[in-house]
Amino acid sequence: MSSYGNSTKSSGVVRIIKDIDIDITNKHVLIVEDLVDTGLTLHYLKSMFENRGPKDVKICTALDKPSRRKVDLKIDYEGITIPDKFVVGYGLDFAGKYRNLPDVCVLHSSVYTDKEDAG
Ligand code: 5GP
Repeated sequence: MSSYGNSTKSSGVVRIIKDIDIDITNKHVLIVEDLVDTGLTLHYLKSMFENRGPKDVKICTALDKPSRRKVDLKIDYEGITIPDKFVVGYGLDFAGKYRNLPDVCVLHSSVYTDKEDAG
């Protein structure tokens, strides 16, 4: 799923880059997410999967920014709650960069303020 492109803010438009190949009818489905921010991506994905007749659809996330939530979304399994900061590293990227950092780090605003309004 993609909602960010090269920005630090969700566009609100959720795109499917690659759908799943398996039939989830009568299956228990667990969505494993890196970070829930506005919740728009998983709200969309969860309802898309629910329309395919699974037994249930649950959500697991490593990081959660509840202060940014725009939709009501139940997180079934949650790792760490973090503040409203754009983070990179440990697999999380900004425009394809910084994924390789060994820790979860807050991206300094100077990296993106010349490209967009940092908010
Ligand atoms: P949402 O739809 O909940 O706003 O955004 C979910 C997706 O946006 C996550 O899967 C994640 O890829 C990306 N995202 C949200 N916040 C951050 C952040 O602070 N850093 C990075 N690198 N990605 C984020």
